Amino acid sequence: MEKYDVIVIGVGAVGSAVCYHLIKRGVRVLGIEKFDIPHAQGSSHGFSRQTKISVYVGGHFEPLIYRSFELWRLLEYESDQALLLMTGFLNMSPDENWNHLKGKISHEVLSHGQLKEKFPQFILPQNYTGCWEPNGGLLRPELAISSHVLQALWHGAEIHAREAVTNWEETSSSVIVRTTQRTYVADQVVFTSGAWTGEIVQGLGVNLTVTRLALNWVWPKVPELFNFGKCPIWQINTAEGAYYGFPMMPDNPGFKLALHSHGDPTHPDRIDRIPNKDDEQSSRAALDKFIPEANGPLLSQKICMYTHTPDKLPIVDRHPKFSRVILGGAFSGEGFKFSSVYGEIIADLVVKGKPEIPIEFMSFNRFAN
Ligand SMILES: Cc1cc2nc3c(=O)[nH]c(=O)nc-3n(C[C@H](O)[C@H](O)[C@H](O)COP(=O)(O)OP(=O)(O)OC[C@H]3O[C@@H](n4cnc5c(N)ncnc54)[C@H](O)[C@@H]3O)c2cc1C
Repeated sequence: MEKYDVIVIGVGAVGSAVCYHLIKRGVRVLGIEKFDIPHAQGSSHGFSRQTKISVYVGGHFEPLIYRSFELWRLLEYESDQALLLMTGFLNMSPDENWNHLKGKISHEVLSHGQLKEKFPQFILPQNYTGCWEPNGGLLRPELAISSHVLQALWHGAEIHAREAVTNWEETSSSVIVRTTQRTYVADQVVFTSGAWTGEIVQGLGVNLTVTRLALNWVWPKVPELFNFGKCPIWQINTAEGAYYGFPMMPDNPGFKLALHSHGDPTHPDRIDRIPNKDDEQSSRAALDKFIPEANGPLLSQKICMYTHTPDKLPIVDRHPKFSRVILGGAFSGEGFKFSSVYGEIIADLVVKGKPEIPIEFMSFNRFAN
């Protein structure tokens, strides 16, 4: 049996970052991924993910968001790739004064009139105001995962794709991991299995829900308004959920938008990955109502999964019953931006037992009652 210090199960957004941070700490690491690296069957595909600071100000995630930016910039430097593109973030809400951001971050509050003048792409009801945050931008998920994996490989990590972990057991001195190909042994195991995390937390007082979400790309009627450089990342908060989107990018033609809502419950092995008319409709509603100049023909669609805990906060902790097992999962619809820092936190849990950033809010303890 081949022996490792740590085996990371699932090399997606967070698993790739864990492999990268572990190998940089001198840990002999094996990452095992059941699909390709990267792939489009989990939660981390679709060419762009939003990142911003304003929505995390004053909350649990504030220290994580600042550290995540530093780590993305470091990975960009090491990999010589543009992973984080700053576009600014435009947040639009009904009856909001944005007072909670005063003196905390760089931003500009836009009245309804100013919003209309500065961002004519969006036609909003009279009670909407805007918050312009210059330090928001988009991450390129496939490239970011590839960069974490490449850096991990260059530093000596072993990564196997198209190999699924089928079972595992903890003994008094190690963890034995069986896959579709081989059996391995490790001192510790990290599960970063995304939508497939449910099985691992069974019996721990928490049920994870996996939901199906659609992404749509359209060719705008007035494309110049939605180009990179002209259009920021944006969000329109409504009673149905938050519509959000991205400027047009060369990776995938068209203007990308989606509805951030709970999504329809599904199972990662049985999910319908073929997009349908209802999936398109979820974005057409926003185009019809708020962004008519973008309401052109459909160019592309993708299906993706969120994984939620009941309180919508992730789990990053040691397994309560198996002391050699660490789990990072249930990152919901907001996890990608933090994947760089989750990688660092989990590597710290493995090596030092405790990360520098407080993570109690992501522990299993909160489900104890
Ligand atoms: C439509 C959509 C839009 C989103 N938008 C944003 C956004 O704008 N900003 C943001 O920050 N976040 C966003 N998110 C959320 C974010 O993308 C996810 O939270 C994050 O990517 C999840 O990362 P992960 O590593 O947990 O999962 P994944 O990247 O899916 O990785 C899990 C991996 O584990 C592998 N695996 C599972 N079981 C096994 C096994 N037994 N053996 C081997 N491998 C296994 C899987 O194949 C997979 O590759 C969005 C998500 C979706 C679906």
